[in-house]
Amino acid sequence: MNKKLTFQLFLLIISFLLVSTIQAQTNRIVYKGKKTVLSKAVKEANRLLNDSTFYKNIRSVSSFDSTNYSVAQISREIQTFQGEIQIRSYWNPLGTANAKTLEKISVNTSKLNRYKDPLKNHKDVVNTLIHEYVHAVDYHLDGTFNYSHDFNSEGQENTAPWKIGSIAEDMARE
Ligand SMILES: [Zn+2]
Repeated sequence: MNKKLTFQLFLLIISFLLVSTIQAQTNRIVYKGKKTVLSKAVKEANRLLNDSTFYKNIRSVSSFDSTNYSVAQISREIQTFQGEIQIRSYWNPLGTANAKTLEKISVNTSKLNRYKDPLKNHKDVVNTLIHEYVHAVDYHLDGTFNYSHDFNSEGQENTAPWKIGSIAEDMARE
């Protein structure tokens, strides 16, 4: 084998390794189940989590309620988080929660079809996933919640999980 060919082969291997590393980083939320509504929303949530505009929009918030953390720190924690968050699902039509999260995101599948309009519904599920992802990252980093919210749904709009979820909902597309 001549030197040029060896070098080209070397470059090819390096590019392949780079591409696989980049792809490995793109799936921050992993769902292996078969619910189409959920897998579509997971795909969109992963796109947003890898989009710098999403973090720019988070950083444009002046401050979050119910936390001592700055907007910049919360945004950075989410953007630089390296782990994969798994999703499992459960079915509880009597429960009020859309989801529950510690290390994993647990999605209540009885709440996945709250709106008739498919796009509105899709955006709503993306909101739920990003909201839960914020909880999961928060919990993973030191085993406690540092930017969470009360369990009343009133008056929580400006806490990090609610606000970041709603930023994702506004940006979400099919
Ligand atoms: Zn929450």
